[in-house]
Amino acid sequence: MSQNVDVMVLGAGIVGTASALQIQAKGRLVALIDLAGEAGRETSYGNAGLIERSSLTPYLLPMEPLTLLRYALNSAPQVHYHVNALIETLPWIIAYGLNSRAAAKARIGAALLPVISACVTEHQVLMKAAGALDLCRPTGWIKLFRSERELAKAAHEAEGLRAAGLTIDQLGLADLARLEPDLHGGIGALHYRDPAFVPDPLGLTTAYARHFEHSGGVMLSGDARGLEQTSDGWRLMTSSGGLTARQVLLALGPWSAEILRPLGYRVPLGIKRGYHMHYATQPGAKLNHPVLDDEGGYLLAPMNQGIRLTTGAEFARFEAPPTPVQLNAVEPVARKLFPLASRLDKDVWMGRRPCLPDMMPVLGEAPRHKGLWLNFGHQHHGLTLAAVTGRLVAEMMTGETPFANPAPFAITRFQR
Ligand SMILES: Cc1cc2nc3c(=O)[nH]c(=O)nc-3n(C[C@H](O)[C@H](O)[C@H](O)COP(=O)(O)OP(=O)(O)OC[C@H]3O[C@@H](n4cnc5c(N)ncnc54)[C@H](O)[C@@H]3O)c2cc1C
Repeated sequence: MSQNVDVMVLGAGIVGTASALQIQAKGRLVALIDLAGEAGRETSYGNAGLIERSSLTPYLLPMEPLTLLRYALNSAPQVHYHVNALIETLPWIIAYGLNSRAAAKARIGAALLPVISACVTEHQVLMKAAGALDLCRPTGWIKLFRSERELAKAAHEAEGLRAAGLTIDQLGLADLARLEPDLHGGIGALHYRDPAFVPDPLGLTTAYARHFEHSGGVMLSGDARGLEQTSDGWRLMTSSGGLTARQVLLALGPWSAEILRPLGYRVPLGIKRGYHMHYATQPGAKLNHPVLDDEGGYLLAPMNQGIRLTTGAEFARFEAPPTPVQLNAVEPVARKLFPLASRLDKDVWMGRRPCLPDMMPVLGEAPRHKGLWLNFGHQHHGLTLAAVTGRLVAEMMTGETPFANPAPFAITRFQR
């Protein structure tokens, strides 16, 4: 039996699910399709839960020679790489480095500014509709410093962010002890107050998916590799039979490049793998905010499941088995900072941040395929940007004037 909808959204991570809701809100009949048959089980499951309103520029490559040397020697906790992945990763890293220079950074920051500025408010609209506002905590997050040099550098950057309208408190040790009495370490901190914290990222994607279905959306299991173009749209075989639609939105996160390749689009989608583990706390201990120990190379977040420790970036072949060396290295450091008790998960979780070398997502219509729309490559900020890039792409797909200029995010920037 064949079914027809207005739009099929491929990929039910936070990006696809939020996009499906935004398109549905424009009055379209939408089907949301995932290989897993349910929402939020891949990268969107395991992140640190930050809706990172204060990231006015994305995470670019630090250009200090000493830092680069430590990365190259595989001796920094923030970055790890597999030697057998070096040759295939190197062109991407060089492009990433070129985009990390001051002029490119300013251009990228300007393109992202209207989008990042609306990231919390746009999620709140969806959360309210989905009855999930309790998953949006106005705690902001805390960045802890271990050296005067790093603190001074970040305090200087914070002045620029304040001038752009953000609220950032500098915390001495007494202020930090008042906010986080169970933290023991560091010389000071910055408290970024504008970001929101989601203590259950899977719970949020699930709440969005349920709301989507209750509002008439169709959730199906299917494999995007079977996507076919027809004379007037697109067709995919799903668990419920054939599905056709005039428009398709590809929101497959780290798997997006693989699906685009047979259609003739080569996209330099790099993967920064990351790991997490949940911990119990020692009796009486409590963490009130997500805390980034940047020099230590990890973040602690007070999730509903326990304290979630997330790691930095790992470069490896796509299907290489997990190698949680960063997690194992930073765990003793984290235990000294906060009284973590036993590990709560049987296995270490691994996810793949989908990253273009300019750290901007790909958004918009594919130039050579009518009705094929794209929304992927949200790097470290997929939770942050899901609702707002979903809105942007929904506006474009329905012929409305987009609320922000989408031109810098077009796939054509890689197709010259
Ligand atoms: C350790 C870590 C910490 C992070 N912390 C943060 C944070 O604090 N804040 C933030 O904003 N971001 C954070 N991120 C990044 C964020 O998690 C990602 O950017 C985001 O989850 C990407 O979402 P997505 O929907 O694009 O991809 P995914 O969540 O991976 O969704 C892609 C979907 O496509 C489906 N799929 C794959 N292949 C097929 C196929 N052939 N057919 C059909 N479906 C298919 C998958 O099953 C999956 O559900 C973090 C990431 C990591 C790894």
